[in-house]
Amino acid sequence: MFSLTTFNELGLAEQINRALIEQEYVTPTPIQSQAIPVLLTGRDLIGIAQTGTGKTAAFALPILNRLATLRIPHEPKTCRVLVLSPTRELSGQIVDSFKAYGKYLRLRVALAIGGVSIGGQARALNGGVDVLVATPGRLLDLMQQNALRLKNVEVLVLDEADRMLDMGFIRDIRKIVAKLPTERQTLLFSATMPQDIAELAKQILKNPASVSVTPVSSTVERIAQRVIHVDRGAKLTQLIDILRTEAVNRVLVFSRTKHGADKVARGLAHAGIPSEAIHGNKSQNNRTRTLAAFRTGEIKTLVATDIAARGIDVDGVTHVINFDLPNEPESYVHRIGRTARAGAEGIAISLCSPDERDFLRQIERLIRITIPSSKSTLVGQPVNARQLSGEERRHAERGPRNGRPQGRGNPGRGGPGRGNQGGNQGHGKTQGQNEHRQGQQNARPQGDRPHRGGQRDQQGRDNGQQNRRDNHAAPQGPRPIAPVATVKFSPA
Ligand code: AMP
Repeated sequence: MFSLTTFNELGLAEQINRALIEQEYVTPTPIQSQAIPVLLTGRDLIGIAQTGTGKTAAFALPILNRLATLRIPHEPKTCRVLVLSPTRELSGQIVDSFKAYGKYLRLRVALAIGGVSIGGQARALNGGVDVLVATPGRLLDLMQQNALRLKNVEVLVLDEADRMLDMGFIRDIRKIVAKLPTERQTLLFSATMPQDIAELAKQILKNPASVSVTPVSSTVERIAQRVIHVDRGAKLTQLIDILRTEAVNRVLVFSRTKHGADKVARGLAHAGIPSEAIHGNKSQNNRTRTLAAFRTGEIKTLVATDIAARGIDVDGVTHVINFDLPNEPESYVHRIGRTARAGAEGIAISLCSPDERDFLRQIERLIRITIPSSKSTLVGQPVNARQLSGEERRHAERGPRNGRPQGRGNPGRGGPGRGNQGGNQGHGKTQGQNEHRQGQQNARPQGDRPHRGGQRDQQGRDNGQQNRRDNHAAPQGPRPIAPVATVKFSPA
């Protein structure tokens, strides 16, 4: 096995090394030190790794090296490298990575995702590009419009292949692969290797090398987790209480549905806590803007659905709060992995209503621990007494009158969209951020597969996955009250 300790040892082009220094990358992560030397030889590769391990650079750097050393004039409406990714967000982040690492190479990198006008994307392809990052549906649309031909593709990357299959993209992927030259380098990255991915890999890769970063000790083990048992109707009050009392610096609040995410954001605005909601009903521009504001810290509280949050890679997320428990236990691991990045500690709090206890049990089975739980922290008041008043509830559902938040006790606090840094809600208390990331690995216990069969959504919109399973209410006895616990995953 390769054990390279610096990027210099990889023998990448000088312009790439310069960009890496600027990024403050010193040591290759395990997936990088294993994959890059293999990929530089031109061999196909299966990489078992997930977001957070440095897998984007693991494929982007050798690809950029190829483009730097093998210059070919652009041909109209073609690309030399095609990266397929399941969501708009992940696609955008991959483009950003190519641009950052390829900063000194003067390459053309284009993005083709749904939710934004196709015209601009077609125009960007007119003169030909080096790298095209795309979601499968939009790519097919562009091909149908004769805006793109795939005959010049030298390298194909399938990123988060298991997610793409989960999202129903398999037929699209096959259609796309059928149009590619057979002589090419193919890379497939996936967090898990279920049977259908293994089969796909067998069909489209030739004699691939295989590298994997097994989550032996994981980022997730640094996450302090707890569950608060609370009635559904009191969840918003509980959330507000947490945001006001804990040292929350940057928080991702997860909602199971798009409508629910909007409702939570409105409820927070009403309480004088600025936040933004991000989900598939928002325009791509809006999502990109919101994500950028979250990344810079302009927005401290982001309410998201699972699919919209997929692949979000933001440092310094101190808290993940599950406003709703996910109905797919794997999503829980994915959600809480958004915190404790870049070597930081993280806190994950789940608000569990009685009808969600079955979901909680499924999660605990998957992660193989009992998450410490407590009753509602709404001190001294029974949960029901702290439920929203009729007016508060109406407000949360309909939004503030005149478009203005009516924050009680916090007059003048900005509403959603203002990016107000927030005053005394615990927001703004900073936590040390380690900008360097080295070899971090989000645990995703393998074995259990998320349900299949979600509707294909070309534009990466939230789809049936979010509501696929019914709530099965299952009463559960009292749980021991303990403040926090850390988890260690052992590989399945
Ligand atoms: P990824 O798994 O590709 O989503 O990468 C996760 C994060 O790690 C990204 O923010 C990268 O910028 C960062 N990263 C990737 N490789 C390195 C490295 N060798 N050193 C420091 N940070 C890295």
